[in-house]
Amino acid sequence: MTLNLVQAAYLIAAVLFVLSLAGLSRHETARRGNVFGIIGMAIALGATIWLAAEQADSPGVTLVLIALAMAAGAAIGLWRARVVQMTGMPQLIAMLHSFVGIAAVLIGYNAYRAPGPLSGSETTIHLVEVSLGIFIGAVTFTGSVVAALKLSGRVSSNPLMLPRRHLLNLLALLSSAGLLVWFVASHAMLPLLLLTVIALAFGWHLVASIGGGDMPIVVSMLNSYSGWAAAAAGFLLGNDLLIVTGALVGSSGAILSYLMCQGMNRSFLSVIAGGFGTEGVTFAGDEDYGEHREASAAEVAALLRAARSVVITPGYGMAVARAQYPVADLTARLRKQGTQVRFGIHPVAGRLPGHMNVLLAEARVPYDIVLGLDEINGDLPDTDVVLVIGANDTVNPAAIDEPGSPIAGMPVLEVWKAREVVVLKRSMASGYAGVQNPLFFRDNTRMLFGDAKDVVEEVVRLL
Ligand code: NDP
Repeated sequence: MTLNLVQAAYLIAAVLFVLSLAGLSRHETARRGNVFGIIGMAIALGATIWLAAEQADSPGVTLVLIALAMAAGAAIGLWRARVVQMTGMPQLIAMLHSFVGIAAVLIGYNAYRAPGPLSGSETTIHLVEVSLGIFIGAVTFTGSVVAALKLSGRVSSNPLMLPRRHLLNLLALLSSAGLLVWFVASHAMLPLLLLTVIALAFGWHLVASIGGGDMPIVVSMLNSYSGWAAAAAGFLLGNDLLIVTGALVGSSGAILSYLMCQGMNRSFLSVIAGGFGTEGVTFAGDEDYGEHREASAAEVAALLRAARSVVITPGYGMAVARAQYPVADLTARLRKQGTQVRFGIHPVAGRLPGHMNVLLAEARVPYDIVLGLDEINGDLPDTDVVLVIGANDTVNPAAIDEPGSPIAGMPVLEVWKAREVVVLKRSMASGYAGVQNPLFFRDNTRMLFGDAKDVVEEVVRLL
């Protein structure tokens, strides 16, 4: 009876998760999507705890243990959520993916040590599940830790170029397959331990060898891997909801990675193979593009006053400076004076998919003037002024003009086609991919140096 009720609760939770994902795909319904997700997770947790207590020899002890673990997790989670800055979100998310990975590894070992009653062929299937779960979990764990380190700037975002790295990856995969066969045949701990070590090193190497510009794809791919790791844990625990949820996360992460690859003109396979195709790329940042020109806040205010159409292209610097509120003020002011203002959002602007959209929505910029790369690029030649606010790689013409550049082939916002371009940033420093930006030296570009928030506030004041 309990099991039937729990299965029914799982089914309802699974439907709520699907509705949640559907809701999250559009701004207008995102809040509702979140609510569906929260209700679904509450039902799932309630049902799982109930089932665990029912099946336990001493329900009291089980419930106390679960409550202790949840209280510790909730305390740490609430503390992190309260102190994390919006700019720290990408690395926090990467860390959370790593937890799913390590959990799948631990569940795998637990399922190996305490398999429950199994017949002959079931044992084989169980051991394959154990090794696959541990393999995916270990790759997700170390891959996510490297991603978190790269995103927080603690290690360089340049790709690690070990000699014969593709051969190393191939060897890791082949030896893992061999160890899996050995493990299933022998039931021994040694091949499983070796498999875990190789998977940990493989995950580390896979993400370490991916260059700065491809990190967004890697982050969404690790999201996908964490889903598959959860699904593998679901098989090991015999928990249908975990399988469904893991598959939802895994496949939606895979679709997002594929879309990001399309957006960045990258081959999906080359990115998951760990930076395959980055050979021949130069990371030099010292090409001589000539002199740049500077503008004062007063000159920019005058330019904006005279403009009929303005496009704002925000990037990571807007997030760092928390400049979205003065940017929203500036937008409202310009629109009031009759200027057409639109936003051009690059799919990988910032450090998270949708980063800029979230910030602009937070500052209540109307959705209908926030356009994607494809929607805005065609209109840029007819635009009077483009304001580049803390963006760099996403507006870099080298992606089109310089085949040897690490970001070559990535579609960018072609802001240089507008009549005037003003770039707001603090210095001439490069962006995340570490490449110089020839946009700053174009004849129609002027640099306005300073913290994006202070500078935009100053321009608003002058307007
Ligand atoms: P970039 O990282 O290329 O550049 C941001 C610029 O902002 C810097 O050049 C910096 O210049 C400037 N900046 C930093 N702080 C401030 C501040 N307080 N005020 C004003 N300017 C500031 O940003 P983009 O958004 O153009 O590109 C995103 C990059 O991140 C791409 O390479 C993308 O591949 C990568 N990435 C994206 C992810 C995603 O999912 N969106 C995930 C991981 C990586 P200065 O120091 O001179 O001020």
